[in-house]
Amino acid sequence: MMRVAIIGGGAAGLMAAATIHEDDPSVEIFLIERNDGLGKKVIISGGGRCNVTTGIRDVKALLAKYPRGNKFLTSAMYAFPPEAVEAWFESRGVPLKTQADLRVFPVSDDGRDIVRAFDELFAMSNVRVLLKTSATRVEKRGDEFFIFTKESTEPLVVDKLVLTTGGQAYRHTGSTGDGYAFATALGHTITALAPSLNAFFTSETWPKEISGLSFERATITAMRDGRPKFSGPFLFTHKGVSGPAVFALSSLVAFEPYDAANPLEISIDLFPDLTVDDLRAQIEAVAATNANKRFDNVLGLLVPKSLADVVVDQLGISKTKSANQVAKKDMARSAGWLKAIPLHVVQRGAGDEFVTAGGVTLSEVDPATMESRVCPGLYFAGEILDVDGFTGGFNLQASWAVGRLVGKSIGH
Ligand SMILES: Cc1cc2nc3c(=O)[nH]c(=O)nc-3n(C[C@H](O)[C@H](O)[C@H](O)COP(=O)(O)OP(=O)(O)OC[C@H]3O[C@@H](n4cnc5c(N)ncnc54)[C@H](O)[C@@H]3O)c2cc1C
Repeated sequence: MMRVAIIGGGAAGLMAAATIHEDDPSVEIFLIERNDGLGKKVIISGGGRCNVTTGIRDVKALLAKYPRGNKFLTSAMYAFPPEAVEAWFESRGVPLKTQADLRVFPVSDDGRDIVRAFDELFAMSNVRVLLKTSATRVEKRGDEFFIFTKESTEPLVVDKLVLTTGGQAYRHTGSTGDGYAFATALGHTITALAPSLNAFFTSETWPKEISGLSFERATITAMRDGRPKFSGPFLFTHKGVSGPAVFALSSLVAFEPYDAANPLEISIDLFPDLTVDDLRAQIEAVAATNANKRFDNVLGLLVPKSLADVVVDQLGISKTKSANQVAKKDMARSAGWLKAIPLHVVQRGAGDEFVTAGGVTLSEVDPATMESRVCPGLYFAGEILDVDGFTGGFNLQASWAVGRLVGKSIGH
């Protein structure tokens, strides 16, 4: 009987274990997890609601959501695309819903239901779930893998090993990056690692005055090297800026150095659907119809008042001036500022990032099977690989798809 060990009971490990079991119930599977329950990060994902996958149906469009690893993911994603992921969970008693923004959640809005589907499957299977078990070291001797744990003096000996230890974001969930050392010990190389999907801290302190103010759609542009722009939900925080548009940009600059001495210049457009001339004309029009009101209050008819206060402060427009006393030039400057708010990013919101960019070097792994090219019998899935996506269910989708492919490769 084949014996398989999977280190890491997160999204990828769960799907790998479930798939091996479904394909060949005779395989003896050891699922090693240091926590006292499975899928801790899955449960807290999406703010506890678990954005389990995406409503995007075109796999090419889906692959474009991965700044790293998109080509590598091709086989896995075609084999287990979002609709197959949805069908898998729904057939196991977890109904899902797709939001207007194409994020997919359990109807219950409870990530625990996603993990419960696996718990129930494993309870009736050959999957031996070893909770509160921390792998400390792995070795290959001949054709066998030896897994040493903190809890036992005897190593676990298996024919195949799957590393699904995740990245090193939100380390308190158990994902502390141990797998990088295991992969290295078995002959793999690890790329540079960096936080991704993080907020930005800015040198400007005024964002804290409007902390929490959010916009359904803003466009954020990094001014270095004419980087692409991102549009999406956006908000100001007490230390800078955050939200999906910021996360997407953070992902593209994950490996760029920036700090107080060498900040990343960004520009925020709060009116991406208007030209600067249209916005200027709107400001002039409200100013004309409210000629005797204070200009900050007039601007407050177009944007939240707290933001209007920031605009006049930043542009040095007198607060006591009424709209008819403010020069057209200052109205144009207000429009220009709202269309291109200049900010300097000095720090990643480290510790708060959602994923780790970088990981096991992809050229060392066969994308058709997810088996190691340097250590036969070793497989990888999930965030441990040099694969990461934007927010919107893409990181879990990659973990399910690659975990599935590992399971299929071993199960057959
Ligand atoms: C706050 C937050 C919210 C997120 N929300 C979403 C979302 O809504 N949608 C989305 O697609 N993605 C989301 N992500 C990203 C997504 O959760 C991860 O990319 C995904 O969980 C990675 O799956 P994984 O199986 O590779 O690793 P993980 O889920 O991190 O699982 C790895 C497991 O391995 C275990 N482990 C590690 N080392 C050892 C060891 N030595 N011995 C034993 N066990 C070990 C850990 O305890 C852990 O349970 C979010 C991430 C965070 C931090």
